Amino acid sequence: MASVVRTVTGDIAPEGLGYCQPHEHIFSSPGEASPAAKLFSALRIDDPRKTLKDLLAYKESGGSSVVDALPVYCGRDISQLCGLSRKSGVRIIASTGFHRFYYYEKEIIDWYKGSDVEMIADLFVSEIEEGASDGGTGETIGSAELSPLANRRLFPFDSGTRETSERMGSSSLPYKGQFALGRGEGKASGRAGLIKTAIGEVGAFSFLQLKLLSAAAKTQTRTGAALMIHTEPGADVLAAVSFLEDSGVDPAKIVVCHMDRTEPDLSVHKAFALKGCFLEYDTVLRPKYHGSEKEISILLEMASAGFLDRMLLSLDVTRERLSGYGGVPGLAGLIRYFLPLLRTSGFDEKDVHKIFCENPARALSLQVQERRIP
Ligand SMILES: [Zn+2]
Repeated sequence: MASVVRTVTGDIAPEGLGYCQPHEHIFSSPGEASPAAKLFSALRIDDPRKTLKDLLAYKESGGSSVVDALPVYCGRDISQLCGLSRKSGVRIIASTGFHRFYYYEKEIIDWYKGSDVEMIADLFVSEIEEGASDGGTGETIGSAELSPLANRRLFPFDSGTRETSERMGSSSLPYKGQFALGRGEGKASGRAGLIKTAIGEVGAFSFLQLKLLSAAAKTQTRTGAALMIHTEPGADVLAAVSFLEDSGVDPAKIVVCHMDRTEPDLSVHKAFALKGCFLEYDTVLRPKYHGSEKEISILLEMASAGFLDRMLLSLDVTRERLSGYGGVPGLAGLIRYFLPLLRTSGFDEKDVHKIFCENPARALSLQVQERRIP
C-alpha cells in the first residue's frame, strides 16, 4: 500500500502537496447548472480566465495546491478544474459528497430522497475511484488535453447519463461518476479527492441528512479519503462527528470546517482535536466575521494546548474575495497578508510548515495498492 493525495490531474505523493489551502471555492458552473450561484452572487465564480489570475498569483506567492470544496451537483466543474490546474501549475483537489440542501435542484434532492444509502455511497465512491465528470460551462481552459466527455453536464435524469451507466454495467444507478479522464494513458485523472458533507439545521437531523451522512461515512471507510464537515452556528457538530465515528470513520480523517466562525467555545475545538479530528480555521481575513487579532488568538490558544498538528488554515474564498473578479484579498491573500502576522505572533517556520504542508498532506492522503504518479 502507498499513500497518495488524489488531485484532479492525478495522484501525487503526500510530500509533493506543498503549501495547501484546504478549503477554497475557485470555480462554479454558471447559472442553471448551479442553483446556489443563482441564489448567491458570491458563488458566481464562473470565468476561468479570472480564476486563473488568482491561481497564478497563488502559485507565484508560494502556493502549491488547493482544495475546491464544492461537491458534485452543486455547480462543481471537474473539466474546468482540470484545465485550471494544468494552466496554472497549481494542484487541485476536488470534492465529492454533499452540501446544504439549498444548493441543489429539486430533481437532485428527489434523487437523493429516492435512493438508498448504498446507491448514494456508490456514486461518491465512483467519483473518487473511477472519476467524476460534470460541468458543461462552455469553453474550458486547457481543454485540449481533456476527454471530450468532460464537458457534458451530467444530472441524474439526463438520457446520456443513463446510457453511460448501462455501458458501465450499472443500470441501477442513474448517475455514476464515470469517465476517469485520461484513463488508458497511464494516468488516472478527473477524480475527486475528498468527501464534503454539510450540517446546517439546528436541532435533530432530518432523515435525509442522516442518510447522506451515512453514505459519506461509507464512502470514507471504502476509500480512506478525508471527510470534511461544513458547520453552521448552533448545529450539533458533536452529534455528527459521533455518528460518523460510530459508522466506522477514523476521526483522523475528519476535517471540521468553519470552526473559527461557528463555535466560540474553544473547549469544543479541543474536544474534537482530542478525538484526532482536524480543525479547519477558514474564516481568515474575513472582517465581517472577526478580525485577524481574534483569529490569531484562537490559533495561539490551540497551539499552546498542543494541537498544532490538528490545525488547518484556509480562506474559503468566493467571488467577492477573488482578485481576478475584483475582490480582496485574493486567493494569495493568506500567504501575502496573514502569514506575516502568524510569523510575528510566535509561529516559527516549522509551525508554518506543519500547518500548511504537513497537516493538509496527512488529512488528504489516502491509501492505494500501488502509487502511480503521473
Ligand atoms: Zn466553503
